[in-house]
Amino acid sequence: MKQLIYGGRLLTAGRLDGGHADILIDGDTIAAVLPPGEKVGDDVKRVDARDRLLIPGLVNSHTHAPAALNRGIADGWSLELLLNAYPWTGGNRGTEVKYLSARIGAIEMLRKGCTACYDMAAEIPAPSAEGTYAVARAYADVGIRAVVAPMMADTTFYRAIPGLIEAMPAPLREKAEAMRATPHDVSLAACKDIVENWPFDRDRQRPALAPTIPHHCSDPFICGCRDLARAHGIGVQMHVSESKTQAVVGPRKYGTTLVGHLHKLGMLGPNFTAAHAVWLDDDDMARMADAGASVAHNPGSNLKLGSGLAAARKMRDRGVNLGIGTDGCMSSDNQNVFEAMRIAAFVSRVQGPDPKAWFTAAEAFEAATRGGARALGMESLIGQIAPGFKADIVFLDLTSINYVPLNEPLYHVVFAEDGTGIDRVMVGGKVLVEGGKVLGVDMPKLAAEANATMARLNEVNASTRQLVELLAPVVLDYCVGLASERYRVQRWCEQCS
Ligand SMILES: [Zn+2]
Repeated sequence: MKQLIYGGRLLTAGRLDGGHADILIDGDTIAAVLPPGEKVGDDVKRVDARDRLLIPGLVNSHTHAPAALNRGIADGWSLELLLNAYPWTGGNRGTEVKYLSARIGAIEMLRKGCTACYDMAAEIPAPSAEGTYAVARAYADVGIRAVVAPMMADTTFYRAIPGLIEAMPAPLREKAEAMRATPHDVSLAACKDIVENWPFDRDRQRPALAPTIPHHCSDPFICGCRDLARAHGIGVQMHVSESKTQAVVGPRKYGTTLVGHLHKLGMLGPNFTAAHAVWLDDDDMARMADAGASVAHNPGSNLKLGSGLAAARKMRDRGVNLGIGTDGCMSSDNQNVFEAMRIAAFVSRVQGPDPKAWFTAAEAFEAATRGGARALGMESLIGQIAPGFKADIVFLDLTSINYVPLNEPLYHVVFAEDGTGIDRVMVGGKVLVEGGKVLGVDMPKLAAEANATMARLNEVNASTRQLVELLAPVVLDYCVGLASERYRVQRWCEQCS
């Protein structure tokens, strides 16, 4: 079936003026971008887009499906307190719970104009085909694209931070020492099975690997992921130098930065995405850029967890591909890429007084569309409204308050839009959001199911919660101590020193 979207304005890479254009879609793909009013024949369905601004579906380059059930669960957590709490907040998640959580996150993203994401879906203690496929199935059922990477570790958080276990009082130390991570050969064998038997259309949902944090994964594990990813042509995403505590661990453990260590292991490449990358020095940025790697910039999460401000503009100038991410709902607490894009532009402006060094609206928009698509390995499929790309299109209502009056369309999208101006969202030419509502979703039913699930999880995880709450003050003291050490990074921001 052919469709002509007519009468609208278009905002996409190479056309940032928001001028009028019509879009011809054939099946799930954009066939042509045409001058307004151009004739296309009679056998074409006509879609009225007058008073609409058409943008590519936004790309969320870093999130976590399991965290959607943990929205609004915490305040005052640093990254280390969040990781400490994981046995509680991520405990006892069966396949149905993984599906439910991913579905909630997918519905939110779709409702807010995001049509593709890179999901590090926690598969701890061990990755399973059942769990990973449940997450991918949730994305398939909601209708958005996703790269689903089982998130794994072969070292527990308590062992990953040098000296942390030794700093614990005896009874707690025994409990932390008793926790075990799955050996890397077991996880790698499971990942091979997951990837080789992937049952989903790879233009829609594709697999990747996520050894979560460099020092939470042994070198053989990281190298195993590297080799498996290369053998199957898939991506790898890791959290890298997110907090200052992590950055300090790098030289202590490896004698180099975390990026330097990954570089030595041969992990950096065009299929590699570093999530956060807050504490990179100039050499790290050069290594990432020269390898053709990407960074998923999560400024909202970095603010909430007090992780710091990533040097997004500097990385971009050095040639690192940038995507924008929300991170999971435990650290953002929403899945709103419009908001993440706006924060990305805004935080750059407190990193220095010279507007020439700020992250512009155009750069933020580029990162949230084409840059994110590249981070997902989908740069030839999505991220642009142009011939040959999938018809993933967001219709913004120019009569909504966010555009009244309409001045520079790009600035409205980056600085004013919060998702409330969305009228319609199309993925692969199919309308999934209409009048600002996700079609076919019974929200009261979903809320009841989610609330009942959390009530049950809170009950079964109560004793684990008690334990992590006992560990929290020790973790806090020790990691704040580590983070207070001087760490040599080239100064881009006095607040980060
Ligand atoms: Zn994350």
